[in-house]
Amino acid sequence: MTRRRWIADKWDDETATLTGSQAAHLARVLRAERGMKADVVAGGRLFHSTVDEVRQDDNGEMEVRFALLDEASAESALPITLVMAVYKFDRMEWAIEKATELGVAAIAPVIARRSEKHLAQSAAKRAERWRRIAREAAQQSRRSDVPEIHDPVVLKERMQLEMNAVRIVLAEQERATMLHETVQGAIQDHESTPAFEIAVGPEGGWAPEEAKMFEANGWKAVSLGSRILRAETAAIAALAVTASLLE
Ligand code: SAH
Repeated sequence: MTRRRWIADKWDDETATLTGSQAAHLARVLRAERGMKADVVAGGRLFHSTVDEVRQDDNGEMEVRFALLDEASAESALPITLVMAVYKFDRMEWAIEKATELGVAAIAPVIARRSEKHLAQSAAKRAERWRRIAREAAQQSRRSDVPEIHDPVVLKERMQLEMNAVRIVLAEQERATMLHETVQGAIQDHESTPAFEIAVGPEGGWAPEEAKMFEANGWKAVSLGSRILRAETAAIAALAVTASLLE
């Protein structure tokens, strides 16, 4: 039998229980018996489990109790790396937290021409804190994995990495190409879901020579609409749009 996912009606730390029609179906139709394996969602978390007991309660209703074995990885991360220009740390931290909630696989901080000097200099020391923020956000949103936070590098260095991903740079000057069209097109052009890199600029935006560098390295400039967004808003909006097309 393929492993179905059961959403528990009651649970504690070690067990989860199905009641009512779910239990009746599992017991009578699927002939559940002790030891049968199943995946069970208890309190929003997914567990590998085995059936521990099938019984009728005092009112003659079926009840199936599972022993929760180990937590299974729930949904895998979205195949998206957010390339984020270093800018005001408090806002970056907010973006890291929200990007994690939205399911980003990795965040790559980059030092852009318009990243403030003192922030660029202390970015490397911040990476540990960013990792902690990502870990806490991942737990809070019940992710089973924690997004990877890369060490910050200058943008040029990131551009030189070999990458097998659809490369998208958010650019407020872009008018013709919208993010969702580009993502949709990329999904249609690939047999299996491609990985995406999405770059968002610092408060001052990308410098003209950076825009050229992106273009020369195969990045497609896209718009999120005619309004200028703060970098953290642009990052979150871009992830939400992309996620909606991937899920
Ligand atoms: N300083 C610029 C705005 C920079 S906004 C100005 O005031 O004109 C910071 C970053 O957010 C940009 O580099 C871009 O990556 C992203 N961004 C903001 N609004 C956007 C939009 N409408 N479309 C695409 N990207 C946007």
